[in-house]
Amino acid sequence: MTFRATILTLYPEMFPGPLGVSLAGKALDAGTWSLDTCNIRDHGVGAHRAVDDTPAGGGPGMVMRADVLGNALGAVLEENDPRPRLLMSPRGTPLTHDMVRDLAAGPGALIVCGRFEGVDERVIEGRGLKEISIGDYVLSGGEIAAMVLIDACVRLLPGVMGAEDSGTEESFETGLLEYPHYTRPQEWEGRAIPDVLTSGHHKQIADWRRAEAERLTRARRPDLWAALQKSRGSDASEKP
Ligand code: SAH
Repeated sequence: MTFRATILTLYPEMFPGPLGVSLAGKALDAGTWSLDTCNIRDHGVGAHRAVDDTPAGGGPGMVMRADVLGNALGAVLEENDPRPRLLMSPRGTPLTHDMVRDLAAGPGALIVCGRFEGVDERVIEGRGLKEISIGDYVLSGGEIAAMVLIDACVRLLPGVMGAEDSGTEESFETGLLEYPHYTRPQEWEGRAIPDVLTSGHHKQIADWRRAEAERLTRARRPDLWAALQKSRGSDASEKP
């Protein structure tokens, strides 16, 4: 099954952009995933193909029109389209690795990229759009956010990452941040690679990496550490 991404945007020329190079680009060329764009402007109204209008109730900025977006969605949605319909939005559910894994295991996604102040609430409700945020900051548009989401999904597709298990030890897969990496040269500017990593003792290396991953997670992400402790606690209580 090919992971299919359909992007609704006012700037289709931004795609594939960074998704066209490296791992994601090779996988795109290989047909592991596909990308198509819909220019929302093509569904704009009037001689000027307007896509936005002033906010009801007043205030700054412009709002993307529900009718325009509804028509754009209508044009790209296929009959019984199984793909989730997403709207990139700073108000959305924060994107996590768990969500990425779920999405990557599915048929793809339809992704609406907002611009201006955002989109008319009625199209979110009427078309069942799920709002997703890539973090607590405001971008000028949803395109880069959509690229972040797609990049994270595509690298998990079968065959995309070189080493089959290079994904399994990564940050967030284990609930821990990843341990530090080193490579040649053995010494750089007076700093040596930790001895254990060149010792050849697989068990000691694994133990060191685990301890480092735990140390970093505790120090940098107390929230992840607390969640892990909680899940370990509940695992333990499930055992007879
Ligand atoms: N007025 C809005 C911000 C609009 S920014 C607010 O205060 O919430 C314009 C568009 O950029 C949004 O419609 C959304 O599609 C995109 N965007 C901005 N920040 C984002 C984020 N953190 N995550 C995902 N999309 C974002």
